Order: sequence, then structure tokens, then C-alpha cells
Amino acid sequence: MSAVPLRNDKAVASGVRIVSVLGATGSIGDSTMDLLRAAPERYQVEALTANNNVQGLATLAKEFGARFAAVADESLLGELRDALAGTGIACGAGESAIIEAAERPADWIMAAISGAAGLKPALAAVDRGTTIALANKECLVCAGDFFMARALNAGANILPADSEHNALFQALSSGNRHELTKVIITASGGPFRTWAAADIEQATLAQALKHPNWSMGQKITIDSASMMNKGLEVIEASYLFALSPDEIDVLVHPQSIIHGMVEFSDRSVVAQLGAPDMRIPIAHCLGWPDRIVGRAATLDLAKIGQLTFEAPDFVRFPGLRLAYDALRTGQGATTVYNAANEIAVAAFIAQQIRFGAIARLVEDTLNAWIRAGNLAPLSSADDAIAVDHNARKMAATLLPQIAAKAS
Ligand code: NAD
Ligand code: MG
Repeated sequence: MSAVPLRNDKAVASGVRIVSVLGATGSIGDSTMDLLRAAPERYQVEALTANNNVQGLATLAKEFGARFAAVADESLLGELRDALAGTGIACGAGESAIIEAAERPADWIMAAISGAAGLKPALAAVDRGTTIALANKECLVCAGDFFMARALNAGANILPADSEHNALFQALSSGNRHELTKVIITASGGPFRTWAAADIEQATLAQALKHPNWSMGQKITIDSASMMNKGLEVIEASYLFALSPDEIDVLVHPQSIIHGMVEFSDRSVVAQLGAPDMRIPIAHCLGWPDRIVGRAATLDLAKIGQLTFEAPDFVRFPGLRLAYDALRTGQGATTVYNAANEIAVAAFIAQQIRFGAIARLVEDTLNAWIRAGNLAPLSSADDAIAVDHNARKMAATLLPQIAAKAS
């Protein structure tokens, strides 16, 4: 049994769907709102949240007639109240207000807050036993076993919104779990796919932010350039579908048309294809178990002409190797991998470290954490949050050393 429904075996209420979007002002939030906007008669928006973009949040709340809007930054409550004055839309600020947004009654919740900050709100949504489109991969990377077990317990449906995992989700319904031999997630290879290691080491922020195919938030775009994003996705796939690291392959596919494939025992490989547009996996989650009318361009393979594939390079992209190592180590190592990466990416954006130092900081933090003997299994969200917190501290302590070596 998994909280990811592998067959279209759960009916949803017909009629108007009550939806909430956690992280409504972000890139995934934007794609989700675009789909909701296309069929306003089908959706009632319950709650919308943002980190600190009050004006963006208020504009969306008014446009969609949301019942509740929450901003994470507590100091912005007054500004949000002013922006919503006279609309009748309730509002709140701070972490508790974000949790309240997740707890409000909704049939479908998009979990699209970025980073480990998304864990508690997503768990609050899970505990309501509702249907959750999960974009926030950090929930799984930081607390995968626990998160999925809690979802199963609460009767929540976890629908993978990340494009590769959504592809696997769609392909998996072609067979049974025991017939699966492996899954393959594709990677564009990012802007540095063909670069020499020495050039990757020196890459600038502007270069890292130039993703060849996808338009996404800043953090995940940098993670795509380092292939840490693919590492996070290997871990994500492992927890979502209860797969061992050996059952998950990564394939570099620069056109980003095939997003994921499942190989079954009879050697059939079932793939999902589509334009690189997050509105496709989000539409699949929003319509599930039915299909809705999408907003992305139709796929014109004749125009694309060629689909090409390469094996990933674990040497030039050590972040990918580290993800497999962390997954094999288990017991919180994937939480450390994510936490150290978040610290490293923030330091790279702040120009404290070079691009190549991102993976070095993650590797050093993982090693320091293993040496310290912190290998206890995670059995609660608080455990995961404590490991996340300690790993961030450890990474921050190691940062000056890494920065000095890289300069
Ligand atoms: P983004 O930075 O564009 O948006 C993040 C959203 O979360 C914003 O609404 C922001 O206001 C909110 N937020 C940020 N920090 C917060 C905090 N501390 N508390 C409350 N709210 C906070 O990010 P994104 O690209 O939309 O990605 C969102 C999540 O989806 C990430 O976990 C990412 O890995 C995942 N994801 C994104 C894509 C993509 O194409 N963008 C694809 C797959 C998965
Ligand atoms: Mg992805």
C-alpha cells in the first residue's frame, strides 16, 4: 500500500472542487493559478499563501475570491490586512497562519512552498486526509518515510507534481508494483551539461540561472545546474514509490520531452512525454483521477525532430553521486544532503562560495554528520526538523573553510 494511488482507484467528489495553494506566488503557484483561472466554474479557492509577497498574494486572493490568505512573514500582517480591506477575505501571518491555511477544508491542496519550510504545512494538509499535489520535494527528502507513512495513515492521496515523478505516476498505472523492474527519471543536464569541470567550478550566478528548457524558481534552477535537483529527485522517487536506489536510474535527455519511464518485467518501458511546461503535471494532478483540458502547447515531435540521451556524469556533477550515497546511508542523511545544499546555494547566491563549492559543502557536511555518529532513524517531523536544523548549523560552520579553499 502506498499513499500514492497507483491506479485510478479513488473517486473524487464531482462538482466544484475546493482548492488551496500553498506557495501561490511562486513559479509552481503561478502555473497552478493559471490552470484554475482557465475554469473558474470548477474551483472554489479556499486558502492561498506566500512568504512575503503581500501585494502578489492580495491580488490573487481578490481575483480568485479566496476565503483566507496567509503570509509567512509576521511583520507583514498589517500590510496584508490593508491590501485586503473591504474584501471580506480573512487573513493571517506567521508560520501558524500558513499551517491554518493548510488545515482549512479543501478537496485538493497544492503544496508548493519552496524548501524545508514546506514540511510542516504539507504535513498539516496530509493530516486532513485530503488530496495533495506535492511539488515540494523537500518534504520527501527531509522526512520521506515518515511523511508517506503519515499520509497512508491519514488516508491522504499524494499526487506527485514534480514532472519526473508525475511521469512515473502516470506510467506506473500500466502494470503492478511487483512487475516493476526499474524507473528512469530524465534530466536536461542543465546549462553546464557540456562544460568542463574547471569551467563548472567557476560558473557565475547568471550562468547558473540560464536553464535551457524550464522556467522555474531561483533555488531549483541553481539545483538543476548542479544536478543536485536530480539528486533530490532520486531521493524523492525512492520515498514516493518505495524504491531502492538500485531501482532508480537517471538519464540525461537535453530536450526534456520524456520526463520519466518505467520498465516492467516483460521489458516494456512505458514513458510519459510532454512539452517542458509544469502546467502539464499540475493539470494531471488537478484533474486526477480524470483528465482536464490543459494549457500547455501540444507536443509536436516532428518539429522537435530528435530526442537524444546520455549517461549522467557523476564526476562533473558530484551532487548526483552524493544523493545516491545519502539514500544508501539512510537515517537522516538525505535530510542532511538537502539542508547542506540549501545553505550552499544561499552562500553561492550571496557570492560567498564558487559554484563548484556547493557539492563540496554538501559532501563535507554529510561526512562530518556521519563522523559525529548522528545516525538515528527519523520517527517524527520534529526529528526531521531537528536533523535539518543541526545539519544547517554544521554546514554554516564548515562554510568559511570551503569559501577560503575556493577563493
Ligand atoms: P518559488 O521560489 O518560485 O516559490 C516558492 C513559494 O513558496 C512562493 O510562493 C513563496 O512565497 C513561498 N515561500 C518561500 N519560502 C517560504 C516560507 N519560509 N514560508 C512560507 N512560504 C514560503 O519556488 P518554485 O519553483 O515554485 O518551487 C516550489 C517547490 O516546488 C520547490 O520545493 C521546488 O523544488 C518544487 N518544484 C518546482 C518546480 C518548478 O518548475 N518550479 C518543478 C518541480 C518541483
Ligand atoms: Mg523535476
